[in-house]
Amino acid sequence: MELEQQFASEEACREYLFQLRWPNGFECPRCHERKTWKTKQNLYCCVGCRYQASITAGTIFQDTGKPLKIWFRAMWYVTSQKYGVSALGLQRMLGLGSYRTAWSWLHKLRCAMVRPGRDRLSGIVEVDEIYIGGSKPGKRGRGAAGKTLVMIVAQKDGKRIGRIRLQQVADASEESLMGAVSKTIEPNTLIHTDGWLGYGKLDKLGYPHKIVREEPHIGINLLPLANRVASLLKRWLLGTHQGAVRGSYLDYYLDEFTFRFNRRTSQSRGKLFYRLAQQSVEIAPVPIKDIIGGRFHR
Ligand SMILES: [Zn+2]
Repeated sequence: MELEQQFASEEACREYLFQLRWPNGFECPRCHERKTWKTKQNLYCCVGCRYQASITAGTIFQDTGKPLKIWFRAMWYVTSQKYGVSALGLQRMLGLGSYRTAWSWLHKLRCAMVRPGRDRLSGIVEVDEIYIGGSKPGKRGRGAAGKTLVMIVAQKDGKRIGRIRLQQVADASEESLMGAVSKTIEPNTLIHTDGWLGYGKLDKLGYPHKIVREEPHIGINLLPLANRVASLLKRWLLGTHQGAVRGSYLDYYLDEFTFRFNRRTSQSRGKLFYRLAQQSVEIAPVPIKDIIGGRFHR
């Protein structure tokens, strides 16, 4: 109700996005003039050079045919539900005519859950892998049919888990694993793994390395923190999404899970909403053709 009251008009939504996008006020990208006047189409027109800026252009809300009010409701629904929401649930909640719209909105919002230029994890981390999809645990090494291998990076915070990163990897080869490690972990971070040979070069790459379990297993018998993350992730994919996540789209879901997990202790759902709205105006538009097939991914 509070949301409905605060964002009762398109004007209120635009005002909110303006504050997030241009917290220090608008500045003309062409001539750096700061004074604008508002056109009938709600564009900000530069008094210096007549450049026209739209609050939604260049954000995920660009070219949306729907009122921002509905988008705000969607963002609230997504962030206020502890376990998130399925496309069908969102479609019903918002009364959208098309499942496809709900589906694409959710994927756009998932893209906004990755902060541009987010940092890598540091301190002490556990690294392990799980297979997603398919029921049997995979064989060690390369390629288990129909399954996707995901690297879990879990930061140690005493006995608890700090932040996590999840990264799809092509296989458990050294090359794939080291690529994922350097993408997600700061050098000089102490990394705990099992004895899998694919981690043999960590020291050389500038990561102090401790083998905390000798037996090398891929996809099963995980280290304790990674294991906790893995079971929550699997439960979430089965629960909220009924296990219907296909390999090519998995990245988007991993991003959403990470967004939620890393903010799980946040007391206020309002903060999650704020963060999602903020990142939604920070990232570039995500056309639906780039979502399909999972090609859009940073
Ligand atoms: Zn200008």
